[in-house]
Amino acid sequence: MNTHKTIIIGAGPAGYTAAIYAARADLQPVLIAGREPGGQLMTTSEVENWPGDPDGVYGSELMDRMRKQAEKFGTKVVLDEVVEVDFSVNPLVVKTANEEYHAQSVIVATGASAMWLGIPGEADLKGKGVSACATCDGFFFRDKKVVVVGGGDSALEEATFLTKFASEITILVRRDEFRASAAMQKRALNNPKIKVMWHSSPTALVGTEKLEAVKIINNENGEESEIMADGFFASIGHKPNTDIFAGQLELDQKGYIVCKPDSTATSAAGVFVSGDVADPWYRQAITAAGTGCQAALEAERFLSAKE
Ligand code: NDP
Repeated sequence: MNTHKTIIIGAGPAGYTAAIYAARADLQPVLIAGREPGGQLMTTSEVENWPGDPDGVYGSELMDRMRKQAEKFGTKVVLDEVVEVDFSVNPLVVKTANEEYHAQSVIVATGASAMWLGIPGEADLKGKGVSACATCDGFFFRDKKVVVVGGGDSALEEATFLTKFASEITILVRRDEFRASAAMQKRALNNPKIKVMWHSSPTALVGTEKLEAVKIINNENGEESEIMADGFFASIGHKPNTDIFAGQLELDQKGYIVCKPDSTATSAAGVFVSGDVADPWYRQAITAAGTGCQAALEAERFLSAKE
């Protein structure tokens, strides 16, 4: 069986950037893109913080351009989903439902998925006022009323970030305390634009063309209410897409892939990682692309050293 120099798993900014660098280094990468290529950017509308696009670019268009650029330099993009890997053998094994691939190096770029509430109206209003990323979409809510759900560091960081734009931010916390650090709480609670509703969970999002209101239940007394809102940010955590790597790569407590210090190398020789699947902190397209580049350079050096 043909052993590839590099297989890249995942087709977000991290995977495509790794592919562009690997292909230009003549590693002839095969990129296994999954069933829905493009990653989280496919669910955002306009991306305004991608350097080099001063007029903004649609997430789907940006991903399409990245794919074309990767293919232009010789990347083979396969629309299939990886179901199993074996990183304990040499060459490394990557299996999809239809195919078994062998490779000297693998770059994992499977990303993370924002967790959603799963309430009525949420899926339909995504991109129409409903978002899971304030850094990406906050700018669209200048002088508007927004709701943020969650009580962790992300929720408070996002709420604080949103005060730059929105006129009023209501944070819905399902318990009577935050999970976030004391410093983050102080910063958010000192901001006069931020209001907190304790013991509160959203039950439905109302609107057709765009979000109009959020229905809320008080978890303590069952009281129901509704507030008008133009924006709704789910900030209840992310889940790294690492199920298939359990037992193959070292993962941290939350399932993120652990890298060697100052490196994209993982616990398995020849396996490198890029993007949100190893990054609970920044979670930006540009940081994912940056680590995609790093992973490809490290894979190239790993292969050269082997030769
Ligand atoms: P966390 O898991 O820390 O917090 C998730 C929050 O969402 C919790 O308050 C949780 O409530 C709430 N939640 C979960 N599910 C639901 C639900 N169905 N309905 C309502 N609320 C829900 O995730 P984060 O994304 O905030 O943070 C991830 C990691 O990143 C953490 O380690 C955090 O410290 C770190 N981080 C650090 C930052 C910084 O230091 N600058 C910035 C951002 C993140 P409950 O508490 O009741 O479980």
